[in-house]
Amino acid sequence: MLNIDLHCHSTVSDGLLTPTQLVEHAATRGVSVLALTDHDDMGGLGEARRAATEKNITFINGVEISVSWRNKTLHIVGLDVNPEYSPLAQGLEAIRSGRTLRARKIAAQLDKFSIHDSLEGAYSYVGKGGLIGLTHFARFLAERGYAKDVRSVFKKYLVKGKPGYVSHQWAPLSDAVAWICGSGGRAVIAHPARYKLGKDVLDELLFEFRALGGAAIEVITSSHTPEQSLLFAHHAQRMGLLASRGSDFHGPGESYFDLGQIPELPLGCTPVWHDWNRIT
Ligand code: AMP
Ligand code: MN
Ligand code: MN
Ligand code: MN
Repeated sequence: MLNIDLHCHSTVSDGLLTPTQLVEHAATRGVSVLALTDHDDMGGLGEARRAATEKNITFINGVEISVSWRNKTLHIVGLDVNPEYSPLAQGLEAIRSGRTLRARKIAAQLDKFSIHDSLEGAYSYVGKGGLIGLTHFARFLAERGYAKDVRSVFKKYLVKGKPGYVSHQWAPLSDAVAWICGSGGRAVIAHPARYKLGKDVLDELLFEFRALGGAAIEVITSSHTPEQSLLFAHHAQRMGLLASRGSDFHGPGESYFDLGQIPELPLGCTPVWHDWNRIT
C-alpha cells in the first residue's frame, strides 16, 4: 500500500527541517506521496517539489490556512493548490502581515510579565521567508528555560488565559475555501478533534464547509486518538466528505509521530486522493 502523508511543515513556517531536508526525511520513512502544508505560506513548494523529483516521491502542493470561525481558530488544509493563483497568494500575504502584528503584541504582553526581548528571540528561530508563529516564541521560551520543552511552554505561556496569549482575527472560512477551490485545489478541515466542538456546532461547521465547496476532513492526524479517527471517519461518510491522512510533522524531537508513521484511513472512507490519477 502507498504511504501517503498530506500534512507537514518546513522551516518556511514552523517546521524544523528545510523543504529539501523534509523530503529527504520522507524518503527515509518510505513516504511515496507527500504534501507540504506550511502555515499560510507556499514559499517552500518549489524547493520541495524539486527534492521530491530526485527521491521519486509524488509531490502535492499544499498549504494550511489559519481561519477564524465563530471566535475559534480553525486550520484548513488546501491540497493541490496553485501557488500562482493570486487571490490565494494575496490572501496568504495578508495573513502573514497579521502574524507580524500579532507577534509584536505577544512580545509586548510578555514584557509586562518581565519576559524581555522575546520578539528578537522568536525571530532568531524564524526561517528565511520571515513567517512568525507561536512555535517560534515557544522555542525561544523553552531555550530560556521558562518550561522544560516546547509543549510545556504552550501550556504555561501561550494558551488562552496565559501571559503570551493574544486573540487574533484570521481569514474568514469562506475566503480560505474560496481561495483553495479557486486555485483548483481541495479544501480539508485539519485535525477536527482539536477544536472541541459540540455535536451541533460541529454539524453547523460541516454543513457550512461543504456548502462553501469544502471537500474533506482530516481523519488520520497525529493529534487524533484512535477513537477520534473513527468518529471523524463516521462524520466524513455521513456528510459525503472525503477523508485525508497527514502526520502534521514539524520536526524530529518536536513531533510524537514521524512522517508517514500514522495509521491507515479506516475502512469505508473515501480517500481525498481517490481520483488523483498521478497516484498509481
Ligand atoms: P500559530 O499558527 O502561529 O498560531 O501557531 C499554531 C501552531 O503552534 C500549531 O500549528 C502548532 O505547531 C503549535 N501549537 C499549538 N498549540 C500547541 C501545543 N499545545 N503544543 C505544541 N505546539 C502547539
Ligand atoms: Mn504548526
Ligand atoms: Mn494545524
Ligand atoms: Mn499543521
